[in-house]
Amino acid sequence: MPVDEFGIIRRHFVRPKPVRADVVTGIGDDAALLQVPHRHELAVCIDTLVAGRHFPEDTRPAAIGHKALAVNLSDLAAMGADPAWATLALTLPEYDQAWMDDFMRGFFRLADHCSVELVGGDTTRGPLTVSVQAHGFVPQGQAVLRRGAQPGDLVYVTGTLGAAGLALHLKDAASDPLRRRLDFPEPRIAAGKALRGQASAAIDISDGLLADLGHLLETDGLGATLRVDELPRSREFLGRLKHAGVDADALFYELPLAAGDDYELCFTVAEDRAAPLEATISLLDCGCRCIGVIEAEPGIRCIRRDGSAYTPDGTGYLHFGD
Ligand code: ADP
Ligand code: MG
Repeated sequence: MPVDEFGIIRRHFVRPKPVRADVVTGIGDDAALLQVPHRHELAVCIDTLVAGRHFPEDTRPAAIGHKALAVNLSDLAAMGADPAWATLALTLPEYDQAWMDDFMRGFFRLADHCSVELVGGDTTRGPLTVSVQAHGFVPQGQAVLRRGAQPGDLVYVTGTLGAAGLALHLKDAASDPLRRRLDFPEPRIAAGKALRGQASAAIDISDGLLADLGHLLETDGLGATLRVDELPRSREFLGRLKHAGVDADALFYELPLAAGDDYELCFTVAEDRAAPLEATISLLDCGCRCIGVIEAEPGIRCIRRDGSAYTPDGTGYLHFGD
């Protein structure tokens, strides 16, 4: 960076006061020193956002800052982990103070909301790329994994599906209300913690329900039947869909099934544990809904309300596909 690197660090990354007592040394030394609580495991994940690929070019800086952290907190949530710390590797085409102020405002708003402390990072010049690494804790042995589902378990999703995909499909401007679902995903941290000791398996939906549920099933060689009319769709999604023209009928199914960027949790739970878990999650702002059942036969089968089969077009976002 041409501008004084330490000035940038002081202005944008260092906070006036520490957020967490378990940060022994945060930003400013060669490495952060962090204290993992006794009898807990450390959950660590990293995700990179590239302009034009992971967010539209017109995305506001605050949304990029929010989303870069949110997608990682969503991964921690899918493990049942409590988020604690983050590091931030930023590659910027140039130093733009107003852009950085807005970006970090989005980042810290979510970080503060989730009691996450930024403990370090790296800042370099190049095409806009944002990598965040997040760290969280789970009581020993209580993490919820992708593997572990059993035939007969019920399949659930939190929140609603398809709105982020519809905003992308309609090429909504950054000011459109539906863009909030694409730009400011809400990591389902409380729901993830409720899954500990209850859910048999979980994954977060970043690349689309079919793709991500597919990953969960593939670890145990299982399959599932989904009731596609019961996929949770928000009022906003249904309202905007009416104006999507000739594609509306197909999009009603395709977006909740195959569009990415929803960052809801998909989890499986044994039938006798489902009702209490559903009751617990219904007290949270996202809620959850049963959308199908795990079966021994591999593959995902989609059925409509009248029992007829539905054959999806897409199977989620493939980063190295065409
Ligand atoms: P070093 O050269 O030892 O890697 P740097 O000069 O890159 O150190 O960084 C100095 C301090 O500022 C370090 O503590 C580093 O973690 C922090 N830092 C640098 N960039 C960022 C960033 N994008 N976000 C948070 N902290 C950062
Ligand atoms: Mg460095």
